Amino acid sequence: MQENQISPSEWEIMRVIWTNYPISGKEVNEILKEKKEWKLATTKTLIGRLVKKGMLSTEKRGRKFEYSPLVTEKESMDESIEDLLNQICNTKISDSIETILEKRTLSKSELEQLEIIIKKKKETAPEEVVCECTPGQCDCAH
Ligand SMILES: [Zn+2]
Repeated sequence: MQENQISPSEWEIMRVIWTNYPISGKEVNEILKEKKEWKLATTKTLIGRLVKKGMLSTEKRGRKFEYSPLVTEKESMDESIEDLLNQICNTKISDSIETILEKRTLSKSELEQLEIIIKKKKETAPEEVVCECTPGQCDCAH
């Protein structure tokens, strides 16, 4: 796992902080109480890791520490999608997008927006996507 990658547990914490900052560790733990049943120490450990990764800023207010995000939710989402896409063959990206479209519910207006993007992409799309994998890591013909 890369240094700046966020684990599933860390995502849970970040989502609370993106929505509620500045916020103390205790308050984060309170919000996630029913969903995760983490002890306060666990929440604090996860927050500590996120501080180390440079994703949260710390500010002392009175006797407690409060945390705020140093990266936006959108930046983090884009980064983890980029990481995922870098792990798969260029020729299989379309399969992954199909899986998302089939498995998840999207609204009419969201789908219309995607149609616009697809239409625009089609104008400059190549006939075939080129595989850039290391030989031996995929069975595309090189
Ligand atoms: Zn490939």
